[in-house]
Amino acid sequence: MKTINSRILNSYAEANSDDDFVHQLDGIANTEGEAAYQSFFSLLTDHRVEPSQAKEKWLAVVDHRRQLSQSLGRPVNLLSAICDSFSSEEDSLNNLKLTKISTHNRIIKEATHDSLTGLLNKNYFYDSLAQQLALAARNQNELSLLFIDIDDFKSINDSHSHVTGDSVLKETAELIQKAVRECDVAVRFGGEEFVIIMPNTNCIDALILANRLRLAVQKYRYKEESSESLLITISCGIAAFPVHAKNAEDLIRYADHAMYQAKGAGKNNVCLFKDENRRYLRIPISKHVQIKELGFSVSPEYTGICKDIGIGGILFQNEELIPIGANMQINIELSKEKPLLLIGTVVRVESAVNGMYDIGVALSLKEMDNLVKSKISQLLTSVRDGSIIS
Ligand code: GH3
Ligand code: MG
Ligand code: MG
Repeated sequence: MKTINSRILNSYAEANSDDDFVHQLDGIANTEGEAAYQSFFSLLTDHRVEPSQAKEKWLAVVDHRRQLSQSLGRPVNLLSAICDSFSSEEDSLNNLKLTKISTHNRIIKEATHDSLTGLLNKNYFYDSLAQQLALAARNQNELSLLFIDIDDFKSINDSHSHVTGDSVLKETAELIQKAVRECDVAVRFGGEEFVIIMPNTNCIDALILANRLRLAVQKYRYKEESSESLLITISCGIAAFPVHAKNAEDLIRYADHAMYQAKGAGKNNVCLFKDENRRYLRIPISKHVQIKELGFSVSPEYTGICKDIGIGGILFQNEELIPIGANMQINIELSKEKPLLLIGTVVRVESAVNGMYDIGVALSLKEMDNLVKSKISQLLTSVRDGSIIS
């Protein structure tokens, strides 16, 4: 939507005349679809037009402008034609007030953005989440919600100053803004809490982004007046639609709950919401596992001990820390003749009491399917080339 909006605004600013702009908007609608007409009304008149009626209204406005220009014997400004059309013919606008677009945009910005950090504000968040969830449900897409809270922020205010606290909030907001994609919605939820709505994103991808952001904050050197450097960390919680929650209220509650789990795990941490009532049974099992990280020509290999296994994932203990988001191949020897090969992504890493790490891997059935297919095709190629006699 952002691309359509910027294309419309650019062509409105750069068009040689209103006739030229009319032509250009039709061109944008040809490539981007009829949503361009709805965006036009929303951007330039702040008037909500139903998507199914936007093109018809646009054609009516263009025709109205042509008639007005003919009667007056001079070209009529496009926005004047829209005002005349909407206020007289449709009677849909009452008590009009002429405002400069820049003033109007400033008022809208103030109503939807947080003044300290420049991120979107909580009011905008609720509207946006409702819209994005409706879109995700309609298009059967996933959506992730990430809650972020700065660790021990009160002590930063107390031991430095409120001004330093404010700079930390601003710089953290910049790091968040840099980490997100154009379609994500980054919000200052309040105080030292931020939220990111990630459309079209499953919880594993959200986990990878959250962890990248956590490390970026930890590494970042905050500017502040004293020479001693400030070490800032964040804790993050993630819940996703539709796997964890089907509505906005539950999604917010679960992402917030996951964030508190991250605090409980020692802060500077990322946690995925854990559904205590798992859909699939987990069976405790104590077997050796061979683990290999995928995606490298020479990958490190580890030997761990499996703790439990289910349809969705496996939990094992390992001496080495494996990062969240790493893609793993796991061989588990259920019996001597039957090793089971699994592929998945690390979604949970916690320190265990015996100095080892508990590593949770969400299995990727698609990757396993691809691996089996690629092994079969390698086998077929070898048979065809004669390197294996069938
Ligand atoms: P935790 O690690 O458990 O999150 O602890 P915390 O200290 O970060 O959390 P707590 O909720 O106790 O403190 C949040 C503090 O954030 C308290 C409040 O004074 C401060 N704060 C809220 N809004 C602002 C702001 O706009 N500017 C500054 N400088 N401080 C703020
Ligand atoms: Mg807080
Ligand atoms: Mg905090």
